[in-house]
Amino acid sequence: MQIAVAGAAGRMGRLVVKHAVNEGLRVSQAFDIAELGKDAGELAGIGKIGVEIISDIEKLSADVLVDFTNPSACLKNARVAAKKGVKLVIGTTGFNEEQKRELEEICKNIPAVISPNFSVGVNAFFRIVEFAVSFLYDYDIEIFEIHHKMKKDSPSGTAIKTAEIVREFLAKKGKKLELKFCREGKRGDEIGVFGLRGGDVVGEHTVLFFGDGERVEITHRATSRDCFAKGAVMAVKWISKMNKPGMYSMLDVLSEDMPP
Ligand code: NAP
Repeated sequence: MQIAVAGAAGRMGRLVVKHAVNEGLRVSQAFDIAELGKDAGELAGIGKIGVEIISDIEKLSADVLVDFTNPSACLKNARVAAKKGVKLVIGTTGFNEEQKRELEEICKNIPAVISPNFSVGVNAFFRIVEFAVSFLYDYDIEIFEIHHKMKKDSPSGTAIKTAEIVREFLAKKGKKLELKFCREGKRGDEIGVFGLRGGDVVGEHTVLFFGDGERVEITHRATSRDCFAKGAVMAVKWISKMNKPGMYSMLDVLSEDMPP
């Protein structure tokens, strides 16, 4: 299996190259607009792997493309991948509604794992939140996240996905709530979602359930990006065996790993 990595010179892309190679997978192409001509392995701190960073995605030739770039670059890469029959693992976040719709269209033709968070811990956190809301659906629910100051999107894709899990469960109970990003003024009938930015925080997400005289808080803290990259490599292995086009999540990848 040959893997191409887009965003290979970035914080996440470098780690994906490192963990893929450490797992014995073959990284055959590395795309970025920075660090052109440099060896992707050297950038990843594992020594030369003989793969230069290139920028022209039209040269894509691999079984799976892993993308950790930005929404517009990722869409361009995904279009090329679909045209060439290359499967996708997408970790990029911050897509707007129109971009999400285009990604859905692309995934009708190609198998893709798309996750705002590839860490196994965060995917367990999603399940735990689902379980908590099944008891605490009458509580006031708010979500906040903290990330490093270089992060481009806010609130994070993980915070939005967490809020959607809560909103979908409440809708099934007949309670229709809107998501409110960065509130000003009084709280309405809504789920508040807040992004804090500073320093080098890798990623922290908390869901708060406020009741009368009590409060439940569920938190996930990432202290290194390795957990995201390792999860993305798990997704690469999983999607390499999946031939049915469609948009899959990290939860699909993990459930497949679960014993019967
Ligand atoms: P980053 O360090 O900025 O890396 C992104 C890289 O992509 C940069 O080197 C950037 O170059 C490059 N790039 C920009 N346009 C490109 C193009 N057209 N083709 C190829 N490469 C291009 O960001 P990061 O921290 O690695 O995060 C990348 C994305 O992953 C973000 O959306 C982030 O939110 C997301 N993320 C997801 C997870 C997850 O588990 N799903 C975890 C962490 C982060 P320039 O710097 O020159 O623009």
